[in-house]
Amino acid sequence: MKPPKRSMRLRTRLILTFGVSALLITSGISILTYFLVRGNLIENRDQSALSVASVNARQAERRIFEGATDQAVRDFLSNLRGVRAESTAVLRVETDWISADPVVFVAPDSLNTELLETVNSSSTDGAKMKYRMEDGTPVLVIGFPLATRNALYFEATPLDDIEDTLDSLADTLMLVSGGIFLFGIAIGFWASRRVLFPVEEVGHTAKAIAVGDLSARLDVGNDPDLEVLASTFNQMADTLEERIQADAKFASNVSHELRSPLTTIMASIDILNGNKDLLDENSNIALNLLNADLERFRQLVEDLLEISRYDVGVNALILERFLIVEFLKRVTEQRSSKDTSIVFLFELNDILIEADKRRLARVINNLLDNADYYAGGATAIEVQIKDNALIISVIDNGPGIRREEQSSIFDRFARGSEGGRRGSGTGTGLGLSLVAEHVKLHGGSVTVSNVNPDGTGSKFSVTLPKAVK
Ligand code: ADP
Repeated sequence: MKPPKRSMRLRTRLILTFGVSALLITSGISILTYFLVRGNLIENRDQSALSVASVNARQAERRIFEGATDQAVRDFLSNLRGVRAESTAVLRVETDWISADPVVFVAPDSLNTELLETVNSSSTDGAKMKYRMEDGTPVLVIGFPLATRNALYFEATPLDDIEDTLDSLADTLMLVSGGIFLFGIAIGFWASRRVLFPVEEVGHTAKAIAVGDLSARLDVGNDPDLEVLASTFNQMADTLEERIQADAKFASNVSHELRSPLTTIMASIDILNGNKDLLDENSNIALNLLNADLERFRQLVEDLLEISRYDVGVNALILERFLIVEFLKRVTEQRSSKDTSIVFLFELNDILIEADKRRLARVINNLLDNADYYAGGATAIEVQIKDNALIISVIDNGPGIRREEQSSIFDRFARGSEGGRRGSGTGTGLGLSLVAEHVKLHGGSVTVSNVNPDGTGSKFSVTLPKAVK
């Protein structure tokens, strides 16, 4: 099956939308500005060049009377004022070409032949043309036929100043567009943070609820757009919390209610146990079966009661400071099975810890009981300090826990497929989940790993954060 396509992150999409919109808008405005300015500049130049050239042509008509020398004509042309200082006036009298001095525009070489033809063939109207000279300079050439002496008048005005202005305008507009694009990205970044903040809040709160903080709620605030989302979310969380607490209370009440009849039954069974000799063989077998199941039942009710206290949140730590190694030794000594073979592995003897003694003893006893049930007894207890955390490990050489079960084994009523087989019938599947709850209440965690490369042997490690050396 193809993996689902990952779409772009919402934040990235928002930022890009802002950036690209800013770029499109400024590019549009820039292009419009460029063409408007360009049109305007060129039209103005055309008009002024045309009127100046037409006045000059009329003057030339008067000045190039029969008998005027070439020098006189050149002087006259040089003194004409064009639309720019660089404008060049050129005359063709009969077949001779006379240019103003200094010459920017060389006639007839730089003159477009088509334009020459047009002007030559037109009677009174002039003609104009824009083109590039050989050296690349853009030029506007306006020509008029003159009534006297079969002459043509041309005035060439370079347009390089307009081209330079337009080039720098284009550079500026591109720079501004780039700047506005970056500004759009920055605004997009800022806006996406603001817009996505409530979504992130929902995510964090939902995550907090998912990991067990049922009291986590969203801040409703006073934004009408978000109020509905926040209050609906909070309502949902309220309902969920009520449900879970009702369930937990129910389990707690049931186990509580079971306790008193159980005590009565156990007391009665004790009487029967005391009078075993009076019972026949069958009754004795039945009594033994009852004893075993009753013990398991009692354990189940005790465990259920304890675990439901966690669910209703009424468990509080009673913290004390004590020497951990000494404490662990005492716990093992007090056990009825007296595991004298357990080796203590520790680096320091005087590690102080702040913890709830009763709960920690319960944790260690549970792990040692399990080692007894499923693994032929614990072989070692290890105490280590790592990154200011205290790690207590109970190690055995039993069948080990399969890798795929190593996290689910701490779930309620989870019974391992391998280890569970040996002790089937004895456990309730609540022991390790109680261990996890006790440790969690201390702000710690519990994990299991295998000891040997072939997967045998278990090492249950309890990590407590409050190591005081
Ligand atoms: P219970 O002992 O009542 O079954 P636990 O929660 O204490 O419940 O243990 C869950 C399961 O983990 C057990 O059924 C057993 O399969 C497995 N287990 C626990 N400790 C060990 C161990 N030391 N070695 C092998 N398996 C173990």
